[in-house]
Amino acid sequence: MQAPIPPMYPGGLRVGDEEEARVLEALHQKRLFRYYGPGEAQSQVAAFEDEFADHMNAEHALAVSSGSMALMSALAALGVGPGDEVVVPAYTWVSSAASAYALGAVPVIAEVNESLTLDAQSLEERITPRTRAIVVVHMRGAPADMNAVMEVAKRRGIPVLEDVAQACGGGYRGQRLGTIGDIGIFSFQYNKIITAGEGGAVITDSRRLHERALMFHDVAAGLRSDVQEQRRFVATTARMSELHGAVARAQLAKLDGILADMRAHRAEIVDNTSSDAAAAGVTWRRQNDAEGDTGLALIPLFADSDSAARATKALAAEGVPAHRVFSTEKPDYHMAYHWEPLIKMQTWSERTPWDLNPDAPTLDPSTCPRSWEILQRAVNIDVSPDLSPVNVEEMSIGISKVLRSV
Ligand SMILES: *Cc1c(COP(=O)(O)O)cnc(C)c1O
Repeated sequence: MQAPIPPMYPGGLRVGDEEEARVLEALHQKRLFRYYGPGEAQSQVAAFEDEFADHMNAEHALAVSSGSMALMSALAALGVGPGDEVVVPAYTWVSSAASAYALGAVPVIAEVNESLTLDAQSLEERITPRTRAIVVVHMRGAPADMNAVMEVAKRRGIPVLEDVAQACGGGYRGQRLGTIGDIGIFSFQYNKIITAGEGGAVITDSRRLHERALMFHDVAAGLRSDVQEQRRFVATTARMSELHGAVARAQLAKLDGILADMRAHRAEIVDNTSSDAAAAGVTWRRQNDAEGDTGLALIPLFADSDSAARATKALAAEGVPAHRVFSTEKPDYHMAYHWEPLIKMQTWSERTPWDLNPDAPTLDPSTCPRSWEILQRAVNIDVSPDLSPVNVEEMSIGISKVLRSV
């Protein structure tokens, strides 16, 4: 590879004058807290919430300190608590499950299919009378099969939380991800599509859910007179700072450009390599809605785990930014297989969520054999928005070469 490939920090590498200007605006106004400050300065966080809700086509947006706190706020808003069960896919960042666990609930793992997202049939098999919420995760930039998931959820009367941490701005059949289920969450941690270093958001069309999430994320929000919800709650404090809000606003304005660039690069690489993939019997990860994909990764599924391991090495030798999605040896919290603290039912106290719900399944990786089989065959190739034409050409040549050799 002649030209160096930019590291995969899509929004992070585009931090520039716009972020600087917004942050300086907040500093010059000496307003660092979202709810008040000296003078007449507008809150950057409040402006970000308005702009984010607008962009995502949601009624309400709540900015929080992280994606994990967005998950907890959203699950609490949905009424998840001690002894409840929450279905989560076997492939997701551990926070999707840990947030339910932290609320005293039992995360129940369900299979993913060749799209690497929640399999609706497996979801249905995991539902019990104690299931209080379904977390569906749009992994590696691509939408889950929302029609199938929503069909099960509606029929069984269970609310759906969309975890959009890895697919900000993506869509499904013309709708923004995060607006199809009851509530959606985002992360602005540094690896995500747009970033403030840290940060998160909760979006929903329901005023009630929004107010409950608001009360969860701000211990004093129950004192507010504009909260209509009759019952008041205290929880934790996970507010977004004004400096993060300032960066997030500038990043949001760049989201469409980042998506357009990732999608264009990905499409070009797919074009250049698909015939070699087909000849090698390698398929791409199944798409539930190709148009809604954010384009941040290209994921070939090899015939077996060994070929995926060999291909990963060969891709690295070609300078292509690739990693195996899953191996049993390498601990990685993206796979329920490696969620040791949950598997061992460890908690901060001597009690566990199972004390209140002894019938709930324990987290047993052997209940998701299909997920492990598929994920071991998957190789992730990052598609940075900042690839140059030379990068795209060289990556395509490298990928084709490896495909022809496996
Ligand atoms: C990153 C991520 C989160 C958590 O976000 P943080 O901001 O790191 O807390 C949750 N879910 C998924 C799928 C993620 O990738």
